[in-house]
This record gives sequence, structure tokens and C-alpha cells, in this order.
Amino acid sequence: MVRVKGVQDGSIAEELGIVPGTELLTVNGRELVDFLDWEFLTADDELVIEARLPDGEAIVYEIERPEGESMGVELDPPTIRRCANRCEFCFIEGLPKGLRKPLYVRDDDYRLSFAYGNFATLSNMKERDIARILEYRLSPLYISVHATPWEARKVLLNNPRVPNIVEQLSKLAEGGIQFHGQMVVVPGLNDGDVLEQSFTDLWNFGDACLSVAIVPVGLTQFSHLYTGKSMDRDTARGLLAIVDRWAERARQERGHSWVYGSDELYLLAEVPLPDAEYYGDFPQIENGVGSVASLRTRVQEGLSTLPRLEGKKIGVVTGVSMAPMMPELLDQLTEATGASFQLIVSENSLFGKTTTTAGLLVGADIRRALADRHDLDLALIPAECINDNGVFLDDEPFIMVREEMSMPVYPSYDFIDVLVHEGEPRVAEAAA
Ligand code: SF4
Repeated sequence: MVRVKGVQDGSIAEELGIVPGTELLTVNGRELVDFLDWEFLTADDELVIEARLPDGEAIVYEIERPEGESMGVELDPPTIRRCANRCEFCFIEGLPKGLRKPLYVRDDDYRLSFAYGNFATLSNMKERDIARILEYRLSPLYISVHATPWEARKVLLNNPRVPNIVEQLSKLAEGGIQFHGQMVVVPGLNDGDVLEQSFTDLWNFGDACLSVAIVPVGLTQFSHLYTGKSMDRDTARGLLAIVDRWAERARQERGHSWVYGSDELYLLAEVPLPDAEYYGDFPQIENGVGSVASLRTRVQEGLSTLPRLEGKKIGVVTGVSMAPMMPELLDQLTEATGASFQLIVSENSLFGKTTTTAGLLVGADIRRALADRHDLDLALIPAECINDNGVFLDDEPFIMVREEMSMPVYPSYDFIDVLVHEGEPRVAEAAA
């Protein structure tokens, strides 16, 4: 059964009398377990839907759905499948106590992998789940492989009952499912021979394995489970050497790089990041692979759209790892606008010094970075550190932080998105 949360105005569902709270039981005789069933089973044009209205009345709808018209039903969010592993490097285990509850949910859900690109390990998958992926053609999936050798994977996931990922991926690949893989590399566990074997196994899946990202283990000061070594510059360089070799082979034989080091890996290795062409269509940009190259491209392409801003002093807040990349970008912005850009590098007060990503800065960091900067006309902060509800990871609403500052503060993805509007009167100013 799936429950209706909302119904779109003027939709088929509204016409039928489906209301929030209605329980949808079956479609064409098939039981509904979750949103996937609803999405895929209602793709037919002729539908018989069994439902129960909020007052308990059982009802059967027989519908001929006009082609292309959606049912207009929003469902309650699904119960998320929890992770059965206990990875030492788990970021969630590295969160401090006292944050909002959803942040501690360790999801490992192939449905969210398909729907939202969340990475899943497939550790909690049953045969019926595989069958479902094949039937509904849930492709591509995003899979945390970490290692293909079974024993190494059990150690990495800290779970002796982990299924054999090669067997799982083989079934998916044979069924026409494609996937993007990621490997979080822990020095001494899945670098060296394990990494080579993993690349070989993934390569042998051919077109089914669309891309592989290599991500260095990331720890916070609260990563209490972790007993391994941290990633240092030389280990990162060694990993990139292997990545480069496989990427070169992939470009020659398949026409694209196939395997990518995350930006973080290049920054740790102190090796220049590749240009945008290396990343093709940026298959794993949401995973921090190619973000810097993409940012550079967007800045370059947007410079000609910027207004002149002579005399303005603009603060740009970022994290420690992005700091070395910023001067070249700010120089370009200065040349294009005439404004003076001030780089403000902030350490992470919530996760500690080892967490250097700009997107994990919290409200307290922004407040500290900007509190005394009365000289600034404007400040830009990383948009990635604020969620869809306008809240930082430390639960500080952005709006509260902004109100305390003496200058206007804007979340920005690529500077251009905010600066392009700077020549225009702000809404409040225009109304005055
Ligand atoms: S798979 Fe590992 S890293 Fe991912 S949520 Fe589970 S324990 Fe954490």
C-alpha cells in the first residue's frame, strides 16, 4: 500500500476523487509496495486501481489515461532502507552529536539510487530486489563498490554478510542495467592490488559500467570507528597514477575517461586538476568529480555577462581545500568587473580542521568569517552549504545569519549567478 500525500489541481486523481490520505492498494491486480510500483504500473493506459479512502470506503477506479498525462498524485515519502554495514569511514558516524535527526539516517536504498543518484552498496539487497530492478529497468544506478574482491569488501564495509558484488553486478549487467561506481579508498585496504583488481572487474562489465569515481577517505574529528591510515599526499599521487593509466586506456578504447579521481584527491595530491574536456559530460559531478573544472568553465563563460562594479569590495567565503583554486578565478572576476574581491578562507568549526570542503561550512563559520568585515559591500558564500530549506548543517537558518551581517550576503554556486544581478537595483532599494 502507498498513501497519497497530495493531489494536483485539475489532475486525473482529483477528477477521480482521490484525496490526501487515500491508500492506493493495487494497480491492474499488482500490489503496490512503494512509489516505484506506482510510477511503473501506472505507466499503462488502461488502469484498474483499488484504493481505500480516508473514511475507510473501499473503491475501484477504472481509467483510460490519456497518453502522456500524469495521474497527479504525490505520495508519502517511502520508508528508507537502512544500511546494514558499519564502514569505519562512514561520514555519518563522523557527525557530531546534536544535529537534526535526518542527518543521522544511514540510507542504503537502490530505489533512491535510481531516483536521486544516491550511492547504494547493494548489501541489503534480496533476489526479489534484483528482479524488481530488472523488471522496472532501474538504470542507471549509483553503486558504492569500494572493492570488487569479496574479502576486501567485507572488511571495508565492516560487514561479514556482504553479498558478492561481482555476482550482483553481473546479474544487473546481463539484464541491461547500467551503473556508475564509486570507490572510497582507504590506504592499505583498497589501494594497490585491490584497486587494480577492482578496475579490471569493473572494466570487464563493458558498457554496463558507465563511470568509476575514486574518492579519498574523508574523516572528521568525530570519526570514532576509523582505525586506518589517513590519506596523505604521496598515497593520493599513487592513486592518481593508477587512475591516469586506466583513464588513458579508456580514452583510447572507449572514447571517454571512464575513471575519475575526485577533486579532493587532486587537491590532496597537490596535482593540477584536469580541464573540463577530461570529464566529458561530467558523469559524477554530484560526487565532487569535476566540480572545479565545471566552476572554471562557468566563470569563463559568464564573465562577459557581468556589469562593471568599480569601487565595490566583495568578500568570497570558501573552505580550506578550495582556497588555492580561488585567486585565478577572482582575478578574472576583478578584470571583468573592476571590483575588488577579498578571499575569506574559513575552517570548519563543527567537523574540525580535517574537514576542508566549502560545502560543509556551517552557519557559525559564515558568521565568524563575516562578522567584522564592515568594509565589504557584498559577500558571497558557497550555496552548497545551505539545504533546500535554507538551513546550514548546524541548523542555523541562513536568513538569521544574513540578518546579523552588515553587508548583503548571497549564496552562490559560481559567482556569476549573483554578480550578474549586481548592476540592478535590489528589490528593497528599488521599493524605497
Ligand atoms: S555504506 Fe558505509 S558509509 Fe555508507 S552509510 Fe553505510 S556504513 Fe555509512
